[in-house]
Amino acid sequence: MLGLDADDTLWENEERFHEVEARFRDLVSTWADGETADAALLATERANIARHGYGIKGFVLSMELTAIELSGGAVTAADLGRIIGWGHEMMAHPIELLDGVAETLDVLAGTHRLLVVTKGDLGDQLGKVARCGLDHLFWHVDVVPEKDPEAYRRVLAGRGIDPAEFTMVGNSVKSDVLPVLAIGGRAVHLPHTTTWVFEEPDPDEVAAVDFPVLGSFRDLPAFLDGGDPVS
Ligand SMILES: [Mg+2]
Repeated sequence: MLGLDADDTLWENEERFHEVEARFRDLVSTWADGETADAALLATERANIARHGYGIKGFVLSMELTAIELSGGAVTAADLGRIIGWGHEMMAHPIELLDGVAETLDVLAGTHRLLVVTKGDLGDQLGKVARCGLDHLFWHVDVVPEKDPEAYRRVLAGRGIDPAEFTMVGNSVKSDVLPVLAIGGRAVHLPHTTTWVFEEPDPDEVAAVDFPVLGSFRDLPAFLDGGDPVS
């Protein structure tokens, strides 16, 4: 049983957000320099993640709020409309699979049941799965609001999976590795180019555990075939 994270593990995601953040800096440049705009947006996202959840809609709401705040209410309705348009664009963006994912998943689907476990907005995430062209390879897809030990416990119990027989693969130590180790599963870290600031794990928690780190999605079949213990 192999668990797969989706965003920035199977396909590019963060880059989409960074592109729009650059447009946002431009849009508010009358009122704030780039650094101030970034910090303000991040603070809004942080303050609202529990209300907005992860995903494009929450990101759009955070940009709207931040633009209103930074402009002291002077941002125009037309500009607020542009921000919503960016969100729509992100939702329809073609899926860019990461290097080696398509070929490797084909191999893995022959040896493992593949369970996608992803967090975020249900519609966004299921839409990406449907558009990625690989959904026929997935056994099930579970979208959870937050990837904590309880969420993994619930997903695995719901699917009748013993955590001891479950290996999770993902780009986030905080979301894909630590909570799975905490419930007695195995986890493989597959780093992406950048780590979203909200995904930075607690260094003490990381220091307390050991887990394998692979350089490429292509390394997975050999790694799993080797049956290497978590080291
Ligand atoms: Mg991810």
